[in-house]
Amino acid sequence: KLENLIKTEKRKSTGVLQKFRLDNQVALVTGGSRGIGYALAQALGEAGCKVAIASINFENAKIASEKLQAQGIEALAIQVDVAQKSSVDEMLKRVVDTWGQIHIAVNNAGILEGGDFEAFPEDKWDQLIGVNLKGVFLCAQAEAQHMLKNSYGKIINIGSISGHVSGAFQNEAIYETSKAGVIRMTKAMATEWADKGITVNCISPGYIDTDMNNHPDCIPLHSKWLSSIPMRRFGDVSELCGAALLLASPLSSYMTGSDVLIDGGYVLW
Ligand code: NDP
Repeated sequence: KLENLIKTEKRKSTGVLQKFRLDNQVALVTGGSRGIGYALAQALGEAGCKVAIASINFENAKIASEKLQAQGIEALAIQVDVAQKSSVDEMLKRVVDTWGQIHIAVNNAGILEGGDFEAFPEDKWDQLIGVNLKGVFLCAQAEAQHMLKNSYGKIINIGSISGHVSGAFQNEAIYETSKAGVIRMTKAMATEWADKGITVNCISPGYIDTDMNNHPDCIPLHSKWLSSIPMRRFGDVSELCGAALLLASPLSSYMTGSDVLIDGGYVLW
């Protein structure tokens, strides 16, 4: 009787842990050479993905992909400028020519640029919006064109607390604008592709310890930033990986258009 019960219960298993495995799935991470992007690329690789690391400086992408290869992860380095359509299309072509398809895309490449709104130069606007907002548009568009053919895809955009609240960084109105656009665009894309097998979600980090926040202009602001975080510390890149794996895996099959805040409670205050 107990044996039968065990057999029935085994069949009833949720299989939840197994669903985190992403063996042989193809993932692309823009801005995967460093910081948040590298951590997410490594996590996807550890879950079984083949991972394409794309970034603006090929040397950085190459070093990152070699680090993954040294861990036994199948990795490919690609040079891309996410603000240029031809470059983005070429990136997708490289991935699909190499591995035949794409299942998971993390649109993470981004830059931070500050300055008073009234004096913000037009060329800096073009650059910031070009990478952070147009970049996500171009990448998601190209990714979806391939994913729609297989009626399957998991797109993860990287937003920010700056897309939710003002003043997280110093004088970052245009950065905030770009990130609010990413969060809104995530929801719009999710709506368009909801019945076509593609989920689109966003992760909005708070202050994470990366090169971006350790720029010499940012260091004098660290103590002010720390005092505004309920957890009183910066996040580590590893603390974004769990959410990324959830959004990349079939476990999030009924989740689309979400924005997952990972910010030590920052937007609570
Ligand atoms: P880093 O500055 O550490 O890394 C930036 C990455 O983007 C690098 O891989 C860089 O490539 C790549 N990149 C920059 N411009 C381009 C471009 N035009 N085309 C392709 N790749 C490009 O940033 P983080 O890891 O800190 O940030 C990653 C994302 O997370 C960004 O979108 C950022 O806005 C967001 N974010 C970060 C927070 C933080 O506290 N760190 C907080 C909230 C959001 P390369 O190495 O070749 O130069």
